[in-house]
Order: sequence, then structure tokens, then C-alpha cells
Amino acid sequence: MTHTFDQELEDRLVRYAAIDSQSDADSPSSPSTGIQFGMLRLLEQELGEIGAKDVQVTEYGAVLATIPGTTEGPTVGLLAHVDTAPQFNATGVKPRVVKGYNGGEITFPDDPALVLSPEEYPYLAEKLGHDIVTASGTTLLGADDKAGVAIIMTAARHLLANPGIPHGPVRIAFTPDEEIGRGVDPKLPADLGADFAYTFDGGRVGEIEYETFSADGAEVRITGVSIHPGFAKGKMVNAIHLASRIVETLPQATMTPEVTDGLEGFVHATEMTGGSSEMKIKFIIRDFEREGLAAKGEMLRQVCAAVQATEPRATITCEIRPQYRNMRYWLEEDMTPVDLARDACRDLGLEPVSVPIRGGTDGSRLTEMGVPTPNLFTGMQNIHGPLEWISVQDMAKATDLCLTLLGKAATAGR
Ligand SMILES: [Zn+2]
Repeated sequence: MTHTFDQELEDRLVRYAAIDSQSDADSPSSPSTGIQFGMLRLLEQELGEIGAKDVQVTEYGAVLATIPGTTEGPTVGLLAHVDTAPQFNATGVKPRVVKGYNGGEITFPDDPALVLSPEEYPYLAEKLGHDIVTASGTTLLGADDKAGVAIIMTAARHLLANPGIPHGPVRIAFTPDEEIGRGVDPKLPADLGADFAYTFDGGRVGEIEYETFSADGAEVRITGVSIHPGFAKGKMVNAIHLASRIVETLPQATMTPEVTDGLEGFVHATEMTGGSSEMKIKFIIRDFEREGLAAKGEMLRQVCAAVQATEPRATITCEIRPQYRNMRYWLEEDMTPVDLARDACRDLGLEPVSVPIRGGTDGSRLTEMGVPTPNLFTGMQNIHGPLEWISVQDMAKATDLCLTLLGKAATAGR
């Protein structure tokens, strides 16, 4: 297959990645950072220029657009997120393209100590001759998810320029704040108006993901009895000691992120704040199954109750809130969106791979809200850090997948 999209994809990724659009979990606003509008407004303008219809920036900071169908078929949504991860420096990204990768180590102009080696990252060794995009050493690249944006924009430009290609209606959404778990506004499913959708936010070529964690958040509050330490004998109840006891009693050797993988879930203490009179501990609870998630929440409650029993004068509360659910629960009822992607993948000579994601995607929430949304590969690797990289030719395969998929969806719908 000739990769006619390579140059366009490279140009788009380099242009988008240079724009700082990092999100911020501590900000209460929506989008969480004003700088995300830099990307949103640019995409609004570019969508208009390539001839997309109904181009709109919503008040919750999503860019929506339509590619009208050239034939009957279900309406398919294509999504990517414009924000980059808060975990690493994302200001002043200087994307750099290593043309025709020679198989050796890749070094970085702004950090001579940094090395991207094919021995350490064997997937890179497979990309001999590819054009590899990286950052310059001091920032992440932001291929997560500017690669997804570039893939969707390239596919959209191609379809709009070639109205002879048969496809059903396509709805595009570029969303903010995915990295902080706030990418899906309650209004998005209705505004998108798609029968099913795909996020382009996955890694290696062939990945088609439809299983994610189910996730709850928990907050434990411990209120002690506060009194001057000089007169505290028999009266003071120190919340710090009780909080420590709760954390100590939880299974650290078997049920934390640092000791689990594959299909195992965990209870992860993310934050502990407060003082002797009152303490607050935040947890995230993860499991692939509802039962496992409920059991882990129940265990946390029992630990709190047990510590409470040792000190009736304290008040310990444990509040558990749902965050998102494994999208498999809905997709296994109707695997059409997954099967279409798998068939399209095989048509391109690629073997589809589905591995459960130890995390959530915007698709987890969208699927739960009625728009089945599996996640497709873009090629992005080593995300959220300075060694982030992507092959332009992998992005071209994702673009081919997108176009093949839309053709198949229209045929399947007839
Ligand atoms: Zn992402």
C-alpha cells in the first residue's frame, strides 16, 4: 500500500504538538485550562477550511463537526482529545522528525543524557525505515492524543475532497480534559448524535480495545477529638493515628497498583491530608468486574469500621462514588463496532489485538451513556514522558483503518 498520507500526518502532528494544551486536574473550570482553546479554535478553523459541516465549539469545550454521508449507513463518531497529560512538562514542545529510522539509538538535542533505545523499547526496533517523531528531550511530545487528532483530520480532509467514496454520515468530536477524566460532558452523547463511535487514543498497530477497568473513587474522613495537648490525657483522639491504622490495615502486598497487573484490580491510596483533629484519605478502586469492584469497596468499608470499633469517640466515614465502568458490559451485547474495526484491520493485512486497558478512556463513559465507543490504535508509545515517540507510518495505518472502517460501516448498515 502506498502511504499517501505520510506527509500530511507528519505536518499535522508537528503543528498540533507544538501547541501547549495541557489539562489541569486541580482546576474546577471546564475546560480545565484556557490554553486548550488554542487547539480547539485551530481545529474549528481547519474543519471549516476542509469543508466540514455544522462546525461548532460547545460551551464545554468540544469541537464538533459533520462529514455528510455519501450513502446510507449508521452515523459513526470519531473522537480524539486535544489535551496533553499533566504528569510531565508540556510547555514549549519542539517536535522533531527522524526521517528513515536507521535502527540505532535516538538521542535528544535538549537533554544529552536521554536515550531512546530499540533494546529497551523493542517496538521501536520494528520501525526500521519509518519516520519517527519525538520531542526534544525536556517535554513530552503529546502524540497522546495529537496523533489521534491528526489521523481524524487527515481522514476527514480525504473524505471531503473525494465525495465519490461511499460512507455514511460521520460526526467528529475533539474533546478537552481526557487526561484528567473529565472529557465526556453529559451533553456530549446527544450533541454527537452517533450510533457508535471510536476514540483514536490507543498504542501499537492492531490494537482495538473494548475492555477497560471499572472504577470507583473513595473518600475516608476521620474526625478525632481535639484538645490542648497539655490537658489531653484520656480525652484526645488523634485522627492521624487512626488514618495511619486504616492505611496500614489495607492489603499493600497484594492489592496495590505497584504489585498488580493483567486482570487484577487494586485499592490505591492517592492522597492523605489533614491534621490531628481531622484527616482525609482519598482512594481509587479499580477492577475489571463489577463484583470485584464492589468487594474491594466493601473491604475498605470493613477496614474503616474495624478501626472505628477501636475508638468509638472518633467518627470515621467512607464515601464511595462511581467513576466509570468497563465498556465490555455494553459492547458484548452488540459487538458490531468491535467486529467492524477487526474486519477493517484484517483487510489492511494487520492482525487485530484486544488487550484489557488498565485504565479508562473517554469511550468508557460514552459507552455507558449509550454510544458504544471502542478505542483504536494510533501508534503512540512511551506516552506522558520525554521518551514519547510515534511512527508516521503507524499513523498512516490508523488513517487507512479509519477510512476502511467507515466504508465497511456503510455497507453493513444497508
Ligand atoms: Zn490519550
